[in-house]
Parts: sequence; C-alpha cells; structure tokens
Amino acid sequence: MNTTSLKVPQEGYYGEFGGAYIPEMLYPNTRELQERYLTIIENAGFRKELSSLLKDYAGRPTPLYHAARLSEYYNTNIYLKREDLTHTGAHKINNALGQILLARKLGKKRIIAETGAGQHGVATATVCARMGMQCTVYMGTLDVVRQRPNVERMKLLGAEVVPVEQGNNTLKDAVNEALRDWISHPGETYYLIGSVVGPHPYPDLVTRLQSVISEELMWQMKEKTGREEPDTIIACVGGGSNAAGIFYHYLDKPAVRLIAVEAGGKGVDTGETAATIALGLTGILHGSKTYVIQDEDGQITEPYSVSAGLDYPGIGPLLSHLYREQRVEFYAVNDDEALRAARFLARFEGIIPALESAHALALLEKVSFPPNQHVVINLSGRGDKDLETILNRNNE
Ligand SMILES: *Cc1c(COP(=O)(O)O)cnc(C)c1O
Repeated sequence: MNTTSLKVPQEGYYGEFGGAYIPEMLYPNTRELQERYLTIIENAGFRKELSSLLKDYAGRPTPLYHAARLSEYYNTNIYLKREDLTHTGAHKINNALGQILLARKLGKKRIIAETGAGQHGVATATVCARMGMQCTVYMGTLDVVRQRPNVERMKLLGAEVVPVEQGNNTLKDAVNEALRDWISHPGETYYLIGSVVGPHPYPDLVTRLQSVISEELMWQMKEKTGREEPDTIIACVGGGSNAAGIFYHYLDKPAVRLIAVEAGGKGVDTGETAATIALGLTGILHGSKTYVIQDEDGQITEPYSVSAGLDYPGIGPLLSHLYREQRVEFYAVNDDEALRAARFLARFEGIIPALESAHALALLEKVSFPPNQHVVINLSGRGDKDLETILNRNNE
C-alpha cells in the first residue's frame, strides 16, 4: 500500500473518495483554503501557539488509562485514551482550536459553523469566545428543541444560534444554510467544519488537527508497555474525526489492527440506522465523494442513532478509502448494545462515557482479543450530556 496516498490526498482524493464537489460560487473560498492551509498549519510559530493552547486551555496530553477491571473482565489489556477529560468534554476541541487559529491567520473576522447535536457548536462557540471572534451557528429547528442545553451553552458563550426551518430541520439542512452564508460572505467569514468531512481541504485539515491523539498515544504506549504500537485500536465513527485522529500515526504500521465502529441504530436493516459503511453506497455528501446513506433514487435519507454525534448520513472520505483498502475493519453496534456498554463502564471503572464512545466500548462484547494483547479504545467524550437518555432507557 502506498502510505503517502493515505495521508496526503492529491487534490483532495484518497483513492476514488474525496474531492471538492461544490457550487462554483464557493470556488474562491475553498481555493484560498486549499492553497494556504498546509503552509499555515505546518509553520513553527503556528504549531507552538496551538500546542500551548492544547496544553493549557484544552488540558492535553489526555491520559492513557489502563482500565484494570475492564482488562480483567475481558481477559486482555485494555487502555482508554481519555479525550473525555479535555475542556468541553470531547475531542472536538482539538479541531476547533486549530481551525480558529487558521481562520485568524487568514485574516477572517467571523466564524460560521453547523451543528447537529450541538457538540461541535459548543466547541466552536468556546474557541470563538477565547479568540474574541464573532460566531454564528446554524442548527436545524428539530435539533434546537432536542438539544436545548447545548443551545443555552452556545448562547452563554456569546454565539448566535440560527434555527434552520428547512427539509427535515436537522444537520443536513444546517450545513446547507451554513454554505449559503459562506457564499454570501466570502471575504471575512471562515467556515469551521466539525469532522473529517466536507470539500477538500477539510478532511485532510481536520485529520491533521486530530492526529495529536495518536501522536500522544505513541509515546504513552512506549512509556507504559515498552513499545509504541498497541495490537488493536478501536474508535467510534460519526463523520470519522476521532477515529482518523487516533489511527493517523499507525496507518502505515500494518501490525496495528484498526477497528471503526458505526452506529447501527435500531439495526442496520431497519431503516433506522447510521451505519454508512454497512449499507455501502457511494455518493456525494457535503462536497465530497464518499459512502452515503441514500435511497434507490440517490436521495440522502435521514440517519438514526440514539447517539446524536453518530447520527450522520455519511463518513469522511479518508475512512471510506481505508475501508476500501481493507486497512480499517468496520463493525456496527446498535443502540441497546451501546447503552449497555455505557452503564457497564460507569459501574466497572467509574467513568460515564459519551454514548458515541460507548459504541466503541461495546465492540468488546462482539470481538475477543488474546490475553497478552494491548487494546486501545478512544474514549472520545464524556457522558454528562447523555445522562437523561441513559437513565430513561434503563430497562435492564
Ligand atoms: C461528535 C462526536 C463523535 C463523532 O464524531 P467523529 O467526527 O466521528 O469523531 C464521537 N464522539 C463524541 C464524544 C462526539 O462529540
């Protein structure tokens, strides 16, 4: 396998996936980003400022925790990469901090973002407050109602939340509205995307910003086990940013088994699912060619998962490529399995995980690992936001 093709996309393509399928009116905005993002984010001064913010503001490095009781129960060595301990409680802050610095270097004054569950909206509102930048977040009206606490958080942080009444009133519609805003304000506005999705260069930009997770994991593994490479890494996948981040530095190390877990929802065959790879159709979503959940006519269908952060009808093009190349294995975990895994971690380790991360944990019930292995699970976020769901569904 040509490893550089996995990491540095030519014109934004990973194999056949990726690209920039956008209306002509957006060309100037994306061209500016395409031409300048790498030079800016690889600059020594930029990296120094970002590292300092990641350390003192976001709380990095996040611990690599050896989960002793979980390890005993599953009879293998299990480690949790504690992204749940970052400021705002999930890995999304890594990306938001990187992009806000990029926006400032590009001379932008105003930030726009889309949000579904509100997690990315909160991360964006947070970094905008930190940098004194104006922030507008588009959110479907249905999500505004469903995710009330995150709407309140964004407002408290000084962001304007614009409810979008269109289509299904969810994430897809919020993205369209954000793109419309970007077209109307090409000069001063920066579009801060929350996962490894969207037109080139966003998938590569966000992957690089999240790769800090595997950068830390390498030295932390070495410190704990004497070698940089675990045997297996498991991560949940919505758009794919926490997975891309924890896989990144291991992509060209074939001995490391990489496993991605999608949200099966009520079951991959029920029509109420977010398991994009399991359904397996390619299409165009949010400006890139990738696997997409769609009907026979190519219409994108509404995804479903109990976990709002995995409730996305596509997957980043890098992940589609890594699936196609058989570098990453994909599994689907259903709502009830994730809920059980969340309760289990709470009782067994005293950690309440986000329901997204619980999908990755639930894989331990489906796949068993030899006793001498080192298995790392990306604990992408904390579960405070999901308490009500976890409690209301507590029928066991
Ligand atoms: C948003 C979110 C996810 C899903 O997004 P990815 O881009 O796939 O990582 C996973 N976990 C948590 C805690 C999230 O907030």
